[in-house]
Amino acid sequence: MKIILDLDTGVDDLLALSYVLAHPDADLVGVIGTYGNVTADQAVQNNLDLLALYGAEDVPVVRGATHPSTEDGYEPDPTWHGENGTGNVPIPAHATAQPADITPTQLIADAVDQYGDDLRVVVTGPSTTIAQVLAEKPELAEKLHVVMMGGSLTQPGNMNDFAECNVMTDADATDELFKSGADVTVVGLDVTMQELLTKEDTAKFRDTGTAAGAFVADATDYYIDVSEREDPAFQGGCNLHDPLAAAVAIDPTLVTCFPICLQVDREGEARGRLIGDPNRLKEQPKRTRVALAVDASRAKPEFMERVTQIVSEH
Ligand code: CA
Repeated sequence: MKIILDLDTGVDDLLALSYVLAHPDADLVGVIGTYGNVTADQAVQNNLDLLALYGAEDVPVVRGATHPSTEDGYEPDPTWHGENGTGNVPIPAHATAQPADITPTQLIADAVDQYGDDLRVVVTGPSTTIAQVLAEKPELAEKLHVVMMGGSLTQPGNMNDFAECNVMTDADATDELFKSGADVTVVGLDVTMQELLTKEDTAKFRDTGTAAGAFVADATDYYIDVSEREDPAFQGGCNLHDPLAAAVAIDPTLVTCFPICLQVDREGEARGRLIGDPNRLKEQPKRTRVALAVDASRAKPEFMERVTQIVSEH
């Protein structure tokens, strides 16, 4: 599978990038840096430095949206991912590559032309950039396959009773994505909350004795500490939100999905809530679906195997 990652590069985003680079069935063809956990500029730099760390500087990095579609600016909250997005742990590599001088729309349109149904765009931050791409080139929608980490259909959000963080940050953009006609698989809290990564797991990265192993372990430990502190639902671990979305893009059999024409509430206290679109109940086939069950016997073991392998080499 050819993969474009659209990351707001915090800790679980870097785990998703590591997983894709490590997976023998995945070929990373581009990375977008979008605002969210950090600023867009920081996300771009993190992406460049992470690709340098893994010896993959030939993969183009593109700058995505800098703020939500309905706002003029954006100030990230450093609580969950630190000031630099990687848990205040410096990435042990400095890119010599510069961002590619193309827009996300050019990157995605060219990749759709070249790879067709073999391409997945994995969005692990706010939907702003992918919604802008589809607004600029609506004809892409019928050919585009998106897998997004965000939202929650069957349980409360992580921002309030209704909303998950990525969707709430730009609810309008996610609503536009769902109504664009693009093929969208939602990997949200329904499945990403079912698996915890612990410090016993991260010790295996550190035990490889490499710079990458120490970095990924330290950054993830920061995220585990914050998870424990901020939310009693986490007991000794952090969720694998973004890596699961990347894993599903490569191997959709990891989850069981419910097909439904989705919309997002844009107004009022439920802003950011995912729910079925009452105006499209009869639409067939459904172009959007929500992952509601995950094959836990495979998801985390495959993540551990692949990420341990790639950090051991760098
Ligand atoms: Ca993310």
